[in-house]
This record gives sequence, C-alpha cells and structure tokens, in this order.
Amino acid sequence: MLNANVLVLNRLWQAVNICSAKRAFCLLYQGHAQAVTENAGSFTTFTFDDWKDFSQDAPDEESVRTISFKVKIPHVILLLFYDHLPAREVKFTRKNIYERDGNRCQYCGKKFDTRDLNLDHVVPLGRGGKTTWDNVVCSCLPCNTHKGGRLLREAGMKLIRRPRKPRWQRFILVRFSSHMHDSWKHFLDIAYWNVELGEEIR
Ligand SMILES: [Zn+2]
Repeated sequence: MLNANVLVLNRLWQAVNICSAKRAFCLLYQGHAQAVTENAGSFTTFTFDDWKDFSQDAPDEESVRTISFKVKIPHVILLLFYDHLPAREVKFTRKNIYERDGNRCQYCGKKFDTRDLNLDHVVPLGRGGKTTWDNVVCSCLPCNTHKGGRLLREAGMKLIRRPRKPRWQRFILVRFSSHMHDSWKHFLDIAYWNVELGEEIR
C-alpha cells in the first residue's frame, strides 16, 4: 500500500515525477506538498490536515491507518516549492541526431530510411570541424558524396536549417500501463508531455 504510485506535480502543475505513497505522505506531512483530487475536471488541493479529514470517508482499501487516524493514499500531489522540470541532457547519439533531423537529409531536405542516411560533419573534421550537435547532420549518400571534404560554400550547398542541440526533455518515465491512474491522465495529456522524443530514445 505504501508503495503505491503517486504522481508528483511541480508548483506549476506540471508532472515531474512519480513517488511512493510513503514519500508522498512525508511531503504532505512536512508541508512541502498538498494532495490533489479531481472531480469532473476541477481540482482541489488539501493540506495534510485537510486531507486527513477528507480521508475519513475513504474506503479502507485506498487508505492507510495509523493508531489515531486513517488517511487516504493520494493519487496526485502538488509540490509547493518546486517549479523546475527535471532537466535531462539529450545524449549526443546517432539515434538522437536522426531523431532531431527527422530522418531528413539536411542538404536536399528529402526524407530517407535510416539505412540510407549518413552523418556528415558540416565543417569537415579535416577543416577543423568538431563532432558536436551544431556540426553533425543527417545526410543522404548522394549529398554526402557530392559534398566530400569541402565546406558548404565550396560545394555550393546549403543546410535546410541550422543544426543545434535539441531541447528535448524526458519529464517522467511513465509506462502507460497498469500503474497509471485515471486522475493522472489530465496531467500527462497536456502539451508539454508530448515531447518530440520517441519512446526508444535514451
Ligand atoms: Zn541529400
């Protein structure tokens, strides 16, 4: 019971984590968080004491009992002092570069199968280019061959957009399966959750 999953929202009501019921109770008790309930699309927040009162009518199977009172396990809690999203670095991997570029050759703009694309150094290594987010792009084989070891202007080529490090963030790692509670859905459905990252991207 104390291991039940609780969705954690930051001060801006953005889903940032999942914690155990035990941890959620600590945060509530310490006044760092409030419990959140949803009823027909509107949300109510509860301090620990309010929550204790509210819990008295809750079914036993959704509650834990202490010696003196019973308290319902919240599905969602709201942190009162935390307004960050957990920052996660996007790893500089082949897969992530393909993902960033949408499997599109950054020179001719056409879309290809992964196997028909190469990674190309915009400024070639031999000309002082680095292996970094802003100098490595997806390129189809013909464009890659045409460009060879030349700079863009030497080859008369252009990038369809300037490469940069993506700002993807994986907010929380929720598997949409057994442990997902209905009342989480609202928070997980909204736009910021729909990050561009594919599920397979690490
Ligand atoms: Zn191309």
